[in-house]
Amino acid sequence: MQIESATSIQLAELEKELSAHYERICQHELSLDITRGKPSAEQLNLSDNLDGILAADYRAADGTDTRNYGGLIGLTCARELGADMLQVPTEEVIAAGNSSLTLMYHAVVTGYLFGFAGNTPWRELKAPKFLCPVPGYDRHFTICEQLGIGMINIPMDEEGPDMDAVEKHIREDSEIIGIWCVPKYSNPSGVTYSKETVERLAQLGQITNPGFRIFWDNAYSVHDLGHYVSLPNIRSATLENDTVDSVLQFASTSKVTHAGSGVAFVSASSANLASLKHQLQAMTIGPDKVNQLRHSRFFTEFTTLKEHMRKHANILKPKFECVLEHLQHGLGESDLGQWEKPEGGYFVSFNTRPGCAKTVVQLAADAGVKLTPAGATFPYRKDPEDSNIRIAPSFPSLEELDTAMSVFVLCVKLASVRQQLK
Ligand code: PLP
Repeated sequence: MQIESATSIQLAELEKELSAHYERICQHELSLDITRGKPSAEQLNLSDNLDGILAADYRAADGTDTRNYGGLIGLTCARELGADMLQVPTEEVIAAGNSSLTLMYHAVVTGYLFGFAGNTPWRELKAPKFLCPVPGYDRHFTICEQLGIGMINIPMDEEGPDMDAVEKHIREDSEIIGIWCVPKYSNPSGVTYSKETVERLAQLGQITNPGFRIFWDNAYSVHDLGHYVSLPNIRSATLENDTVDSVLQFASTSKVTHAGSGVAFVSASSANLASLKHQLQAMTIGPDKVNQLRHSRFFTEFTTLKEHMRKHANILKPKFECVLEHLQHGLGESDLGQWEKPEGGYFVSFNTRPGCAKTVVQLAADAGVKLTPAGATFPYRKDPEDSNIRIAPSFPSLEELDTAMSVFVLCVKLASVRQQLK
């Protein structure tokens, strides 16, 4: 279907047909949800052996009694797990509680209140701002919004953020104090940053103000659907460019084991870790080391974790295929939308014709299919094109997803035809 070249009579007929189909669907009173990227129960079951794994042996290999207070930066064995996930040395890792998002919030607050590595606290700047590659992860943007940190959209392409735009903004505005990056299987576009992008990001520290930090949220470092895709190592690139303080890296086992009770990690230079610890020691006496030990016993080797991720992929892959088949079959030959075919991560990013996303989401909601609100993937929830919709296939069953995607495709067609008729 090419609606650009259709006559108004053809469009009116099509609208009638699609509306009738839509009305029939609405009568089914569906209640389906493809909003958030949560693992399904089947995926969570893969890690149920965490329960009872300690068998009352609470001592870590280094003799730590994990039941007691202390150990601000986490157990060594848990830090080793984080080091494997981020491909960095163990000494540069803090293993914390269950959420990397909490660690990111903590890191932004550290920069804001105290400054990193002796640099000016961001709150002392007139108008501190983050660069935000878009579409991006809504919760990153919420952190900035809550603290009154400005946000600037940066377009994403198939290699990552548009680095010309990034460098231009940094050269023009010395109050840019950070950039959000999801470098592997980006949320939601699925893009993995290229070597050149990682190189250029690593060089930013040479042109930014010294308090600038790259927030390297490697949430999907081991979440391949097929073959292992390797991400260029940003730490090595910053070492080569003498900018090692410019990066803070994050990861967690949230979508590896149990999403609500995993272990989160932050990795950074010793100067940055000192800044983080300064605030951390006022917040806590130490993390949940019992859970950290459970994870270390569950994943004795990094290869065990990789093997475990293949089981996730076996569950997730058919769901991604279902989404892509619906899009290809329903919209493949049309001018009604564009999408990527991710090789990992948790999302498929779909772009409607400009000005249609909100209508698609509303039509789907009225038909009983909940989608992530249009605009959620942009700072301040404002998608300038009203075009991006994030599809999250992991949580529903394959059968539910199949139905939800038929409704989605129908809503895209209906919204586009109605818009064209206006
Ligand atoms: N970062 C990204 C890019 C995510 O997509 C998510 C969850 O969807 C998170 C962080 C949250 O991670 P955590 O559960 O470790 O807080």
